[in-house]
Amino acid sequence: MAKVTVKDLDVKGKHVIVRVDFNVPHKNGVITDDNRVRAALPTINYLTENGAKVLLLSHLGKVKTEEDKAKNDMSIVADCLASLQSAPVKFVNATRGEELEAAVKAQEDGSIVLMQNTRYEKGESKNDPDLGNYWASLGDLFVEDAFGSVHRAHASTVGIASHLPSGLGFLVDKEVTVLGKALNDPERPLVAILGGAKVSDKIAVIENLLKIADKVLIGGGMSYTFSAAMGGKIGTSLLEADKIDLAKKFIEEGGDKLVLPIDTVIANDFSNPTEIKTVDAGEIPDGFMGLDIGPKTVELFKKQLEGAKTVFWNGPMGVFEDPRFAKGTIEICKSLAELEGATTIIGGGDSASAAKNLGFAEKFSHISTGGGASLEYMEGKELPGITIIPEK
Ligand code: AMP
Repeated sequence: MAKVTVKDLDVKGKHVIVRVDFNVPHKNGVITDDNRVRAALPTINYLTENGAKVLLLSHLGKVKTEEDKAKNDMSIVADCLASLQSAPVKFVNATRGEELEAAVKAQEDGSIVLMQNTRYEKGESKNDPDLGNYWASLGDLFVEDAFGSVHRAHASTVGIASHLPSGLGFLVDKEVTVLGKALNDPERPLVAILGGAKVSDKIAVIENLLKIADKVLIGGGMSYTFSAAMGGKIGTSLLEADKIDLAKKFIEEGGDKLVLPIDTVIANDFSNPTEIKTVDAGEIPDGFMGLDIGPKTVELFKKQLEGAKTVFWNGPMGVFEDPRFAKGTIEICKSLAELEGATTIIGGGDSASAAKNLGFAEKFSHISTGGGASLEYMEGKELPGITIIPEK
């Protein structure tokens, strides 16, 4: 069964509250990457073109102190939004009260009100029922289009949706369709590539993908805990000693399915390395740390990817922020971009930035807009912001 989407709702002349993801990176009041605003445009444009009165809600950054408030003022998004589409945009510097209510009431069909940062309200992150109820009172319909926030039960996601007829926006609908297919009905072979710093962050996703994928390739900092679990020497590489037993369990249960690095690029120091070399996995000398997968591993991983029909990638293969340790990540990214006849999915976060920075973004079938949400989805967890949206 599919979820109700914005297309199933009769939006003409209605007040439609849309939870968007305008959590844009910014510095000194200037947006440094407007991709998130652009990603919300299909839903916003559809609504304004179909005569809805649109009220946009989003969080921006973390808001704990008055200083955070000043720093994460949503007004910086208003001009950007106005420049990217043609409907009139009114920014309201409030999250409740007369000014907001009057602005909504005065709206013409096809216009937009952008509310101040939802996190100015303490009750937002706690899913305060009164707050959800209050925001819901400002609209007739609710549309969920912030994939980066659907794994959190907040007042602006779950709270509002529990009071109003609701549907998914185009961005979330696409995420759910693509990730849902990879998880529940993938074209096989399904290969997962998992990297990044910590095993502890990825336990649940490794566990679930070992059940459903045909191969799970592990690189990045977390691979050294696996190497230690096999009795390898890992020098001063990243190690989560309390996860060694778990890594052993994954190795046993995974069998041939779990593919680990066979060589690694090492250095004598993280930030100021004077000696860099490549050694076989499990043979890292004392005083050295593993910072990237080696060339033999790149070839091994490429071989595993041959003939793959679905690939899910989350997490870099090394410390890719430093060009000296970025080769593994670049090579894997390249080979995925060149993979023919496969659905290639990047689960957001650092791997998404790597693909974009390397100029490969267009070559992937799907780059998720929510790192945390896509991981939780692939863990098989329910995402509250999606669960609350009714089925058709
Ligand atoms: P994550 O957020 O878990 O996907 O981790 C991403 C971070 O893992 C990046 O900042 C990488 O620099 C870091 N990382 C990847 N490989 C290693 C490694 N071998 N040692 C230390 N950090 C690593």
